[in-house]
Amino acid sequence: GYDLELVHLTKRYGDTVAVRDLNHVFVKGSYVCLLGPSGCGKSSTLRMIAGHEDVSEGAILLDGHDVSPLPPAQRGTAMMFQNYALFPHLSVRENVAFSLRMKGVNKATRHARANELLELVDMLNLADRLPAQLSGGQQQRVALARALITDPKVLLLDEPLSALDPFLRVRMRSELKKLQRALGITFLHVTHGQDEALALADEIVVMNDAVIEQAGPAREVWARP
Ligand code: ADP
Ligand code: ADP
Repeated sequence: GYDLELVHLTKRYGDTVAVRDLNHVFVKGSYVCLLGPSGCGKSSTLRMIAGHEDVSEGAILLDGHDVSPLPPAQRGTAMMFQNYALFPHLSVRENVAFSLRMKGVNKATRHARANELLELVDMLNLADRLPAQLSGGQQQRVALARALITDPKVLLLDEPLSALDPFLRVRMRSELKKLQRALGITFLHVTHGQDEALALADEIVVMNDAVIEQAGPAREVWARP
């Protein structure tokens, strides 16, 4: 399977150890929430998995192969950011198709694939708009489609719901879960909301002070004192 495995994963920024010797297997097709206080190393972990940050020590295995030397686009991972980071001058469809354009996929093919993903996130009717003409929730759906167009085995989500109002947050939460189930891929979702983790996760991983403090099914993690 395409389990994601962290082996002695460590990240240092100068004298700061942001991530210390993480060892963990994320089971293929599971919804995992990574929880913990600000500064505990969640984002650094995600960025190393995505390839946006170099590993100081250790390995990141996907399907048994160490992807840590590979550039982000060749890892089988995709990342969705908190601020969505859409290109303001590109239409919704072109934003979603962007990574295929970078790979040299022809326009008809990439637009057809973009349309499929826009349909999946219920945004096909707004495909010709610019990001500025969308609400926050709509921009988030576009960012999701844009990440999924690379057919990742692992989708990394860095506090994806934190910019939304509470009503939309709860709605998008259930849509993320449905999407993850439909695609059958691993979602690794960083949050500092305990409710969010409980509502979404098959497994909760709690980080504290650069290490994994505990990990397990949601009920077990929260049952402890
Ligand atoms: P917030 O909603 O601000 O994230 P929480 O009460 O959900 O506040 O939790 C704050 C932090 O405390 C969590 O991110 C987690 O690291 C830790 N924490 C909370 N409950 C537990 C628990 N049962 N076991 C371990 N750590 C926990
Ligand atoms: P979290 O996502 O849990 O808030 P981070 O991974 O962002 O935690 O940060 C972990 C630690 O690493 C913190 O002490 C933070 O200040 C530090 N850190 C994060 N990014 C950098 C960086 N680019 N340069 C130096 N220190 C950093």
